[in-house]
Amino acid sequence: MSRPARVLVLNSGSSSLKYQLIDMDSGDRLASGLVERIGERSSRVVHTPLAPAGGRRERTERVADHGEALRAASAELRADGLGLDSPEVAAVGHRVVHGGPRFTEPALVDDDVLAEIEKLVPLAPLHNPANLMGIRTARELRPDLPQVAVFDTAFHATMPEHAYRYAVDTATADAHLVRRYGFHGTSHAYVSRRAAELLGRPLEDTNVIVLHLGNGASASAVAGGRCVDTSMGLTPLEGLVMGTRSGDIDPAVVFHLSRVAGMGIDEIDELLNKKSGLVGLCGDNDMREIRRRIDEGDRAAELAFAVYTHRLRKYIGAYTAVLGRVDAVVFTAGVGENAAEVREAAVAGLEGFGLAVDAGRNAVRSGEPRLVSPEGARVAVAVVPTDEELEIARQTFALASSRDGGPEKRHA
Ligand code: ADP
Repeated sequence: MSRPARVLVLNSGSSSLKYQLIDMDSGDRLASGLVERIGERSSRVVHTPLAPAGGRRERTERVADHGEALRAASAELRADGLGLDSPEVAAVGHRVVHGGPRFTEPALVDDDVLAEIEKLVPLAPLHNPANLMGIRTARELRPDLPQVAVFDTAFHATMPEHAYRYAVDTATADAHLVRRYGFHGTSHAYVSRRAAELLGRPLEDTNVIVLHLGNGASASAVAGGRCVDTSMGLTPLEGLVMGTRSGDIDPAVVFHLSRVAGMGIDEIDELLNKKSGLVGLCGDNDMREIRRRIDEGDRAAELAFAVYTHRLRKYIGAYTAVLGRVDAVVFTAGVGENAAEVREAAVAGLEGFGLAVDAGRNAVRSGEPRLVSPEGARVAVAVVPTDEELEIARQTFALASSRDGGPEKRHA
């Protein structure tokens, strides 16, 4: 096949639709865009073609639902000569947040897969319905195209049972699918692979700790390309301190707040997911603002930074023990890629583990994968920019291409 192949990647949120059209030969974004405030009176459509084709276009109009949002995106793409009806578009890849215990790899969408994703809605009540809406809409628009669901949880399916099982009554846990699943899986998969390339080592023989530090944040221990532990759990609430989520707390805090403060379960859910983490500690969740406040001597911002980086050191220590041998600690996502102070503080005092950053290297700003540890360090410290959309596109294309000779359905 010599015709260029393109994959449309869709990330559907409850009131937004993000899209990227990716060329599979080069990995280039031919265009990307965002429709937000879907269903509200004035929605926003932003479309950015690949430079130098043209500048960003933005307009405000009413977009009633995800169907209209995808049609708006499709019209923008057509205006750039990249219409979804063109034969180059080989497949649509959808980010789906929760794959539960069933989806351990990407799945070619059919009615059965849709029904299974629907069954997982109680595990991800905000995300999965939006993801389903995106898939249904894309199917209506291009029923002939393969649609692939790529799950945030799937990369973590290789965790051994002693890592994913909570020490909770087995019958209750099993009846309600209570276990660790982990999230950000496409990012952990992409970054751990790129880290092995950066180190010049075979993936099968590379052990890394990946710290995905965006607004949501998660750590994973990856041995030979397979996830063996991760910090997020049944939901994305567990683990590291995040922008607005608490991460690890004593579960009894929930009982305490219910009994002593009289808070309802939805109120506590909102407290721990939306009003905790950095924002709960100091009122800001943007690391740039927190650093600015620290420079001005702000105590609350200092404490928030200290709690955040203390948690990172704890997980680096824990996952060093889980892996036995660590080749690299790898930082990614908005905070991990940009905040040199966070990287420095996360490994401070861990010289005994062979971990340190080189101040000069750590200060360099770049969009490329790079080492920030000193020359010859026993354990590398690296920054690897994540690319979840490219990973989704690749997994989608691989599955869609294998359809001809391969099995129709690969979900187990
Ligand atoms: P999301 O989880 O929303 O995808 P991102 O990976 O884009 O998040 O990360 C967003 C966060 O990255 C911001 O909230 C901010 O704290 C942080 N961030 C972005 N740029 C910088 C920067 N230059 N310095 C420090 N932190 C940054």
